[in-house]
Amino acid sequence: MTMVTRFAPSPTGYLHLGHAFSAIFAHDAARRNGGRFILRIEDIDTGRCRPQFVEAIEEDLAWLGLAWDEPPRRQSAHFDDYRSALARLEAMDLLYPCFCTRADIAQQIERAAEAPHGPDGPRYPGLCRALPAAEAARRRQAGEPFALRLDMTKATALAGPLTWRDGEAGEVDAEPQLFGDVVLARKDTPTSYHLAVTVDDALQGVTLVTRGADLFAATHVHRLLQALLGLPVPAWHHHRLLTDAAGCRLAKRSDAVSLRTLRSQGLMPGEVRALMGAPLLPDRRANELGQAQGG
Ligand code: GLU
Repeated sequence: MTMVTRFAPSPTGYLHLGHAFSAIFAHDAARRNGGRFILRIEDIDTGRCRPQFVEAIEEDLAWLGLAWDEPPRRQSAHFDDYRSALARLEAMDLLYPCFCTRADIAQQIERAAEAPHGPDGPRYPGLCRALPAAEAARRRQAGEPFALRLDMTKATALAGPLTWRDGEAGEVDAEPQLFGDVVLARKDTPTSYHLAVTVDDALQGVTLVTRGADLFAATHVHRLLQALLGLPVPAWHHHRLLTDAAGCRLAKRSDAVSLRTLRSQGLMPGEVRALMGAPLLPDRRANELGQAQGG
């Protein structure tokens, strides 16, 4: 079987060294194994994604010397694929509409005797899971905005025990219940990260999902969705995350220095590649990063 890997950034900002690391990781895994490397643009969040960042992503990856083997798939052009997956899950009676606002959820959590936390924060306390079907239908018809949540108890009971294989961690028992009733379609978008990534990896024939260790737990949910939707099961490799001089992981939100800024300061693609083998950023670059960030 031909290996297919992918790099799947969201165009909400410029790529930084952490992204470069992830992209090179996926690219090199495919190239070393005579496989294919795919670029996917994860732009379901139409409010935060910008076309100029899509262009910048392609430019920065090309500068790194990476080439992808087919035109990049843009998730925003494929909402129908996610709608079909939702329809299948709905037909299995595994979804329910959730009309709660963030404030409603915060209030429920405050009132609850215990508020279990999942990998993404407090678990949804489940108010809308208990809505009588007639009331849910009435509110839907009245045009009240709703998200679609997976009934995790039903879904895990239906799927039974699941495992998945990670290049670093080995055989892992899937624990999607840690997340509670995850959102599979947001109020403003007919999908969510978990659903879109699972559907796309299957549609695009991805055989090895490589990404940062920060997404390790999300794989529990993806493995469950694959089982429910009858999708092929890839292997995963969650790689370590690059950290800055202070030991914090690089993130767009924390203003990690972008590849283009470092490039304008003289960074060479070979230097980025050199990071692949190093446990942390080399001192010189880490110092520069630290200075640029601390500024
Ligand atoms: N789009 C996600 C991100 O930018 C990554 C998705 C994935 O690799 O599964 O964090």
